[in-house]
Amino acid sequence: MDALRHRGLPHAAVVMTPETATVHVDEIFLSLQGEGLEVGRPQLFLRLGGCPLRCTYCDTPRSWQASGSLSIQEIEAELDRLLHEAGLRREQIMLSVTGGEPLEQVDFLAAWLPTWGGLVLLETAGVYAAKLRLLLPYVHLLSLDWKLPNTVRQGESLLEPAACLAVAVVSGVAVQVKLVVTAMTTRAELEDAFAAIAKISPGCTVFLQPVTQFGAGPGPPTGKQLLDWSLQLFHFHLDLRVLPQIHPMLGIR
Ligand code: SF4
Repeated sequence: MDALRHRGLPHAAVVMTPETATVHVDEIFLSLQGEGLEVGRPQLFLRLGGCPLRCTYCDTPRSWQASGSLSIQEIEAELDRLLHEAGLRREQIMLSVTGGEPLEQVDFLAAWLPTWGGLVLLETAGVYAAKLRLLLPYVHLLSLDWKLPNTVRQGESLLEPAACLAVAVVSGVAVQVKLVVTAMTTRAELEDAFAAIAKISPGCTVFLQPVTQFGAGPGPPTGKQLLDWSLQLFHFHLDLRVLPQIHPMLGIR
């Protein structure tokens, strides 16, 4: 897969069709889903390159770069190769489209996802609600990474998680909201986020995800703190779960 990284091929086409579309790809791989409702299930991962944000806890800074352009044919060849090696077909396994920020390349995804033929999980940081709307007809599970205050060093003005959640609710797509929490997260920040989520999507599934510390980034809250928050936030009647990422524990991508 390293051969597919940073190939420096031409920039994305202006008009995207399945024949001409190209996209910045960071990596393509098969692994276990490490987060959220699909945790522990084998999935294909398509990590797109390019992100306008700079989160304090980002564990894939490599994916900030919009490099490594591939065509639809090249992407499908690699995904199908991974499936073939595993003895699977497209319709048997969910494809997780992640980043970076996938909505940076919405034109490509709008051209390609309708042709994929399998289940799709789309991960977004909650930017570009209008672009998100275009993709939702081809998405089976939306994972909305709801950024808490003071966790984004750059690009904060682009965040519109409430608008993204509202668009998803109208579309009827299954949604999970993820809040990455650190030792510096406050109850007040969580109360504000939960109030906004509950207003837009009562009963929404929300994961409090203790951060996986990366480099000099912030560390996770204690287990006791997570339990306290879970009880303090209970009154919002959201489907709240605490779940750390499992793939770092397993030593896999
Ligand atoms: S949105 Fe994701 S890829 Fe972008 S900086 Fe934040 S954690 Fe990293």
